Order: sequence, then structure tokens, then C-alpha cells
Amino acid sequence: MASRLRLFDTHAHLDFPQFDRDREGLIAELRAQRVAVINAGFDLTTSRAALELAGRHQHVFAACGFHPHEAKAFSPQAREALEGLLRRGAVAVGEIGLDYYRDLSPREAQLSAFRAQLRLARKLDLPVILHYREAGEDFFRVLAEEGPVRGVWHAFSGDAALARRALALGLHLGIGGPLTYRKNEPLRQAVKLVPLSRLLIETDAPFLPPEPFRGKRNDPLKVRLVALKLAELLGLPLEELAEATFENACRLFGVRPEW
Ligand SMILES: [Zn+2]
Repeated sequence: MASRLRLFDTHAHLDFPQFDRDREGLIAELRAQRVAVINAGFDLTTSRAALELAGRHQHVFAACGFHPHEAKAFSPQAREALEGLLRRGAVAVGEIGLDYYRDLSPREAQLSAFRAQLRLARKLDLPVILHYREAGEDFFRVLAEEGPVRGVWHAFSGDAALARRALALGLHLGIGGPLTYRKNEPLRQAVKLVPLSRLLIETDAPFLPPEPFRGKRNDPLKVRLVALKLAELLGLPLEELAEATFENACRLFGVRPEW
């Protein structure tokens, strides 16, 4: 169907090996279906790749940063290299944050990489893409000390109390596949509190596929399923939800996708 719907997947990882066999075909299909994407780096290699991909496609944008899992590799030299990449056309610093659930980097390393990248975002006047998992008050303390921040809490999956804290920080909430999971009633309740102007949709592809694709590889085309669920939840027509979240993303990241 020749839908004129525009959708903006504000978080995916197209440089992951899960897309090696069909990356260009998928990007062409995203273009055909008018889906724009923020492709988020995880480390220097993926950040560089994200910039390269964004340079070739007007509906794909790059975020560059060190994920908390990779924080142990964030040295002063890495910071310099990251700043160089960010200055080459990245639209955000990300994804960055704290992950005390998997603890793949020591917490001290996560905290210092997080702080340093928040400062980089401030210096370059870029929004941030935040990753949070079971990091408790450390997350809020760092944001308070380094703030104010402009950005999105990606893959938000908290309850109403956490949503209120995110909103109080001025953040947008990135809503993805978990909104469709049966057990996530607290998230569905939380989302209803969020002003439409603060909502973004995302996939986190290749991770977190929405129902009915759990257990399979996720991809940014499936952001439509997130949009459908969110529209249903908020009692809005899909077109209105899609257009509002699209414009929110354009405003936050300062971009204007073209097809
Ligand atoms: Zn991610």
C-alpha cells in the first residue's frame, strides 16, 4: 500500500553483524517505506561505521558513543577520537549510560565514561541517547551533576514513578518493542502519563523485537508495530502518532530526513 506515513526509529544498531547479509537491502526498504533511523554506535568502530552509513543515506543518521558495556575501553585517547567522530556529522552522543545489570565494564569505568561523554555532548551542543539498566541513584546523580541534559532515555521500560523522574529531567522517552510484551502493564500505564511531545519510538534492532516477533531478529521496519501499539494505548489515529513522534525526533536531533 502506498502509505504516506512517515516513521522515525530513533534507536537501532544497523552496524551489528546480524545485518551483514541484508543491510543495504533493508536500508532501501526503509527508504521505500519512509522510515528514518538513528543508528547508534557502541564503541569507536561502530561509531565510525554509523557515520559512514549515514553519509550514504539521507534517511539514516549516526549517533556516536561508548556504550556502558564498552566503558572499560574509554581512555583519554578514545575520548579524543570520539570527539573527532562527533564533529564529522553525528546527530547525538550515544548510546551512553550505566548498566549495573550486566556489569560488563567496572562501575567506576562506566561512571567516568558516562560523565565524560555528557560533557562532550554539552561542549558540542548535541543531544544524548541514554542507556539505563538497574543503575539506581547513580544514574540520576550523574545527570543532576552534569546537567542539564537534552536527550532521550532510550528503551524506557520503567513504571510511572520512573517516567516522572525522566520527564522532570527534561528527557524524551524512547518507547520500543517491550511496550507490546504482555507482562509490561506498568510500562503501558507509565506511557499514558507522558506528553505526546516527549515521546519517541524506536526498535533497538537487532534486539527487543515487538510481538509477535519475539525470539527473532528485530529490524527498523518493525517500528510500525510499536507505533500501532502506542497509538492504540493513547487513543490516537496511527497517522497522528506517527507524525508527532516523527516531528519530535526531527526537533530533538536537528534533522530533516529525505527520501
Ligand atoms: Zn541500543
